[in-house]
Amino acid sequence: MVTEQNGSKAKLVFAADLGGTHLRGALVDEQGEIRVQLKQETPKGDSPTGVVNALVDAASECGRRLGKDFFSASSILVPGTLDYNAEVVLQAPNLQSLERFALKAALEERFHSPVLLENDANAAAVGEMWLGAARGAKNIICITLGTGVGSGIILDGKLWRGTDGSAAEIGHTTVDPFGGPQCKCGNFGCLEMYASATAMVRMTRESLDRFPGSSLHGQCLSAKTIYDAGKAGDELAIEVFRNVGDYLGVALSNLINLLGPEVIVIGGGAANGWCLFEESMRKQIDSRAFPWLSRSVKIKPAECGDNAGLLGAAQLAFVSHVFES
Ligand SMILES: [Zn+2]
Repeated sequence: MVTEQNGSKAKLVFAADLGGTHLRGALVDEQGEIRVQLKQETPKGDSPTGVVNALVDAASECGRRLGKDFFSASSILVPGTLDYNAEVVLQAPNLQSLERFALKAALEERFHSPVLLENDANAAAVGEMWLGAARGAKNIICITLGTGVGSGIILDGKLWRGTDGSAAEIGHTTVDPFGGPQCKCGNFGCLEMYASATAMVRMTRESLDRFPGSSLHGQCLSAKTIYDAGKAGDELAIEVFRNVGDYLGVALSNLINLLGPEVIVIGGGAANGWCLFEESMRKQIDSRAFPWLSRSVKIKPAECGDNAGLLGAAQLAFVSHVFES
């Protein structure tokens, strides 16, 4: 067994964030220091074997770079829904080869050490609670505005998973019951259809005709290009971000009245537009949430960036019982 220089056992977790496009792996210590990390493409294909092999290779490579081939546990983040015992991937729209696959057992056989699986947005909430914008708080909502809208809810310091383990899907709560495009979940009017990067692009495209002078005509649209245009004063981009804030504010008002959180953290690439959506978001909250609840909640941008999930994954392993054996 590899030991630290002072002779104590090295407690390192191999944390991996399995995205539809990229696989990020890291060795994280108990203080939350990422000792080494790497990023590679997620294998494509119909078989889960490629993904399992890629995770094993990533762990080996992290160990090689650090000069240690030992870690005590692994914590793997999946962009989807897990079964109640967090052993089988039930649904992963961006990584369909893993659906109905017993990923935990397959990895434990290869790693010969305990493996935890967690939903990526849940882990991001834990990461922000451990070392980010929600440090010290115990009642937290973390929302990630990316390609979709991910979310994690922590109540009394514990992840809220619901009865079957798949709850806390704020992105699929209804903010418009009377219209809008269909969400990939099958419903209409989900927050994800109004506050994700994908939604920003769609809303911009839908409104281009109303803004003939917009600098966004002829541009390759992304949350970043729309944000850049908004910062430069483009009225269409400003309207899109205002809409994002409105819908986000409606969803957050419901959550504030329902759960009375201490901190709401908003992260993800599209949250870089904070300065363009904050005002309309807060206006909705001020007009909808109970004032005594909205006064006591801090709504903050995320602080851990892309590493929130990896850090949260590691923390979940450290506070679990895997190190006791
Ligand atoms: Zn939905």
